[in-house]
Amino acid sequence: MLVALAGGVGAARFLRGLVRIVPREDVVVVVNTADDDIFHGLHVSPDLDSVTYTLAGAEHPEQGWGLAGETFAAMEAMERYGAPTWFRLGDRDLATHLYRTELLRKGATLSEATERITRAWGVGSRLLPMSDDPVSTRITVRTAAGGTTELRMQEWFVRERSGPPVVAVRFDGADEARPAPGVLEALDQADTVLICPSNPVISIGPILAVGGVRETLRRRRARVVAVSPIIGGAPVKGPADRLMGPLGIEVSCVGVAATYADVCGTLVIDAGDAARAPEVEALGVRAVVADTLMTDARVAAALARHTLDAVA
Ligand code: GDP
Ligand code: CA
Repeated sequence: MLVALAGGVGAARFLRGLVRIVPREDVVVVVNTADDDIFHGLHVSPDLDSVTYTLAGAEHPEQGWGLAGETFAAMEAMERYGAPTWFRLGDRDLATHLYRTELLRKGATLSEATERITRAWGVGSRLLPMSDDPVSTRITVRTAAGGTTELRMQEWFVRERSGPPVVAVRFDGADEARPAPGVLEALDQADTVLICPSNPVISIGPILAVGGVRETLRRRRARVVAVSPIIGGAPVKGPADRLMGPLGIEVSCVGVAATYADVCGTLVIDAGDAARAPEVEALGVRAVVADTLMTDARVAAALARHTLDAVA
């Protein structure tokens, strides 16, 4: 059994490759839920949905979120009421949020809701939210006036387009959050734990912050392998650089290695970063070189193969 720690789009692309080379039922995915938020009264779980839709082959091919062929009639209708629509929810996607919210309202846990949603989409792998308890990423930013203010993750990333400079990041609720049922057991029993090429600060960071996860991974460190989301000093996509830099993490595979060094024995870095392997290894993390730019599912499958072989 393999366990993958996952954020959204970077993880989804990697997992799409992984399930080409191993049986889906052998994969357990522990997914970040600290990006979850309420929009129009609905519980939205962006990373769970990105992974679900991608493993179902239903994801939007370029956008990095939402469903292929999506329409936005409901959002346009909301604009009539002057409701905030900066966080776009497609018409078909809305069904997922309606269904999830109703299950939660009736007393189901997020794990139970996720189980039903992934089954309906024929995902084939087990998706576990990192926690059934609320955890919420909060980003302190510098304001134009020179002060600071705290934003919710989607406010900073989507509404403000990652513009305001980051001062600090915290995961509200993480101290009290218990891992979802099955998370620690899966990490304990996994043959290999894969840390997907996800944002190290706000996708993997919250998972590691949930009680017991970091400790469990430390014990299993020799069986933990990560893929760097940073290639040649920049993220492939998304705001990782805008978070790593201000937090004192070098925006490179070496910075990723430093962030994961206590929990992860091996890091897969891009062929273009091969010259930095000695710096990764100086941190006590074995460096393995591969092509890590996942231009399509075949490349992602080859990367997944390399990643598994790295700890075979
Ligand atoms: P988000 O929650 O949707 O932002 O998703 P993740 O945290 O899972 O993914 C964001 C990260 O994925 C970014 O830091 C990207 O650099 C990384 N990423 C996206 N595509 C690729 C790729 O093809 N290769 C690698 N190595 N990283 C990627
Ligand atoms: Ca996310």
